[in-house]
Amino acid sequence: MTTVIKTPKKVIPIVSDESSDKFISMYEAQSKIYPRNISGKFKNWRWIMIWITQIVFYGTPWLMWNDRQAMLLDVSTHRFYIFGLVLYPQDLIYLAVILIISALTLFLFTAVAGRLWCGFSCPQSVYTEIFLWMERKIEGDRAARMRLDSMKFGVRKFHKKFLKHAAWISFSMVTGFTFLGYFSPIRDLLDSIIQYRLSSWETFWICFYGFATYGNAGFLREQVCKHMCPYARFQSAMFDNDTLIVTYDQERGEPRSGRSRSINAKKEGLGDCIDCSFCVQVCPVGIDIRNGLQYECISCGLCVDACNSIMDKMQYPRGLIRFSTQNGVEKHWSKYEIIQKILRPRVLIYSGLLLLLSLGLVFSLTIRPSFKVDVNRDRGVMSRLAPGGMVENVYQIQFTNVTESQQTYRVSVSGLKGASTASDTEFMVYPASERLVAISLQIADGSIRKGIYPVMFDVESVNSKEHVKQKSSFYMP
Ligand code: SF4
Ligand code: SF4
Repeated sequence: MTTVIKTPKKVIPIVSDESSDKFISMYEAQSKIYPRNISGKFKNWRWIMIWITQIVFYGTPWLMWNDRQAMLLDVSTHRFYIFGLVLYPQDLIYLAVILIISALTLFLFTAVAGRLWCGFSCPQSVYTEIFLWMERKIEGDRAARMRLDSMKFGVRKFHKKFLKHAAWISFSMVTGFTFLGYFSPIRDLLDSIIQYRLSSWETFWICFYGFATYGNAGFLREQVCKHMCPYARFQSAMFDNDTLIVTYDQERGEPRSGRSRSINAKKEGLGDCIDCSFCVQVCPVGIDIRNGLQYECISCGLCVDACNSIMDKMQYPRGLIRFSTQNGVEKHWSKYEIIQKILRPRVLIYSGLLLLLSLGLVFSLTIRPSFKVDVNRDRGVMSRLAPGGMVENVYQIQFTNVTESQQTYRVSVSGLKGASTASDTEFMVYPASERLVAISLQIADGSIRKGIYPVMFDVESVNSKEHVKQKSSFYMP
């Protein structure tokens, strides 16, 4: 007769899976994790996300827009081309707002659904999964890989390891090349590779990003999530009892025990967990979710798939491990009740801020002028006498044409009676280019008293009729 052990309802703290009273050296070699393959709903979702993110990553640099690369962060010319948008260093505010929006989106997703980003879209998880796929194809699944690693080095082991690393390095180099293609025109880059004329900097960046991918996805894997990623450290501060997390239903699962399928577990006083450790074997970070939510968990849902497959075999209901909330598990809420709790104050605040910032960004991009003007008085010569008894001030005007067509700008000056321009007033500027010109402003000597007078430069785009005004001053000696 099996003794029935009553398990008290357990709150799920975010803790480390490692025993706290054990001393662990920071320099201790980590035991290698051999995640077992699994199929199921969340595994499929992971692969759908891998396909989407990789098609976007590898495809975007090849898209064209107005005879140029659609997405190009051209650091050498200080131009960021994002489809129809051309951003200059002065527009860094837009990039800052885009970054803030991305951070807020991450906060919102974390408050609603925990570390969904980590499990399904983060490049570290995505590339680790791709590398694991290559590893499985070449070395086999968990047991075969463990056997291979414990074998003595020989022809068979060398062959498999060589193939695996060749596949990893080739893939990493393509990733490095694509990454650089966001910063340097990718078609030219490909030509340079074909013709063996890559510059040393281009070679360095391709290798740097390539080997970072190779090292992170091939070797460091879960160590990056555990020890290097700052998000893993602060995400728990954004969790509350209504955040979706991967949970093990202690009440239902305990006491765990192995058993044959013919046994009536209820009669024997057993929980639904058959202690098969399948959920641990598939976990890419090597934790046991039955010990409670741990900061290492990336919410990939693979243990859910694993446990569901076991529940199906045992003919028990699915969901012993499931996506739920702490309140949902403790209070036995239905799916509907859990979803209802999503609209809580913190989620509404994040959503409101996100909406405001996004609208503000779209609005300011819509009303953004098609050109910028900077007027500066010539610092070298404050004022000088010009032929014909005139006093002259010289100004440097910088035009920035943010459109992708050639533009002509007309300059006029107002605010000082009797002053007139004594140089060209129409200037052509090439598409997405800047031009610095000098403009001379003259007034008859003695027509005004000595002093500094405000003047207004009005620059009109001849093509679009837009106006940009800039204040400056005229110095009468
Ligand atoms: S515990 Fe489950 S959800 Fe968390 S990382 Fe491991 S397999 Fe993924
Ligand atoms: S897969 Fe399910 S049944 Fe097996 S050990 Fe994990 S929780 Fe228990």
